[in-house]
Amino acid sequence: MPKPSLYDMNLADLETLMRGWGQPAFRARQIYRQLYVNLAANPAAMTDLPLTLRDRLSAETSIGGLRLVRTQTSDDGLTRKALFALPDGVVVETVLMIYADRATACVSTQAGCAMGCVFCATGKLGLLRNLSPGEIVEQALWASRELRAWQGTGDRGQGTGDRGQGTDRAAGGPQDDGSRWVADAPAPVQQLGRISNLVFMGMGEPLANYDRWWESVQRLHDPQGLNMGARSMTVSTVGLAQGIRRLAGEGLPINLAISLHAPDDALRSALMPINDRFPIGDLLDAAREYIDTTGRRVSFEYVLLQGQNDQPHQALALAKLLRGHTADGANRGVPLLCHVNLIPWNPVPGAPLGRSEHARVRAFQQVLVDYGVACTVRVERGVEIAAACGQLAGANDER
Ligand code: SAH
Ligand code: SF4
Repeated sequence: MPKPSLYDMNLADLETLMRGWGQPAFRARQIYRQLYVNLAANPAAMTDLPLTLRDRLSAETSIGGLRLVRTQTSDDGLTRKALFALPDGVVVETVLMIYADRATACVSTQAGCAMGCVFCATGKLGLLRNLSPGEIVEQALWASRELRAWQGTGDRGQGTGDRGQGTDRAAGGPQDDGSRWVADAPAPVQQLGRISNLVFMGMGEPLANYDRWWESVQRLHDPQGLNMGARSMTVSTVGLAQGIRRLAGEGLPINLAISLHAPDDALRSALMPINDRFPIGDLLDAAREYIDTTGRRVSFEYVLLQGQNDQPHQALALAKLLRGHTADGANRGVPLLCHVNLIPWNPVPGAPLGRSEHARVRAFQQVLVDYGVACTVRVERGVEIAAACGQLAGANDER
């Protein structure tokens, strides 16, 4: 039996544990603070606790269950991918992306994924298992520690070609010369105290592991802990409409990104089997509900696949859909408060698909913008270490 992980306990759980051990309740708050503010990696580092309590914590609990197998870096060290083995042997990956003015952790919510999207490396694994709240939170803590360690090395990529500032670029915007979407002028990397953003865009479908995932969001949000604001967190979903509705009612309006990837049901179902259960109409209704309840703008992600979903007429169909037209062309007249994020497809071994060429991406974007739909192109990080969107498959040649 693995020891219980302290990361799988919320403050109330820790208080129960301390009570059971005959300790005063404030010890729980001390431990909580050590875990999430001081980022203590083991009980020995919790020097404000009595030695006997530290020893007992060491003997009877663990701090996390993720074993770091390997770290890979790219983009001059500004993109860092960790491969973790869990106690039962499954592996997950986490990515830290450091920008001039912020640092983003991309965390996994499941090992593998059941959704089977044809363009995604994680989907090829099938679902191995759901991650626990602690396993999700622990990835964010790894990213925080990794950031601290990287900043402490003195080799902080100052002016070494940060490709990330302003990751999402609006067409025609002041930073956009209209011909490229990567490689900006190098900017010095600031001393960042902590992870500024967290995206649930790693392995797995967050809303298919809703309860555990949401527990992790609350833990990350907790002002007594990591204290991440709702607006600093983004969940990406394949489009589980009932999960989106549930999220709308949570009272913590984190950013919502919906993977759309096609403007019509036939094509979307061919790319994403889940569309048979939640077709585009249902999905957009749920998105409207989210927008109406939270007042937040949603993002639609759209992976561009050469010759499949990247044609100008498909861009027009997408634009109409988001401006409130129904599939049969009727105009409901209520545009969605949204933004489209185009993602040139990142290669996945064995997938018979191609990445849309640059000119097609630009043309697609222009159609949307001309129709009044805000649209940016995602700048990818870590493609060469398979750390970019949809490339996480936990490949581990070194085991
Ligand atoms: N399961 C969630 C979140 C993880 S995937 C979801 O599907 O939204 C995060 C994003 O990467 C999604 O928009 C997904 O469609 C996209 N993606 C998957 N495979 C990709 C690939 N090979 N290239 C680019 N983006 C990809
Ligand atoms: Fe799962 Fe998202 Fe990959 Fe689809 S794109 S298989 S939902 S991780």
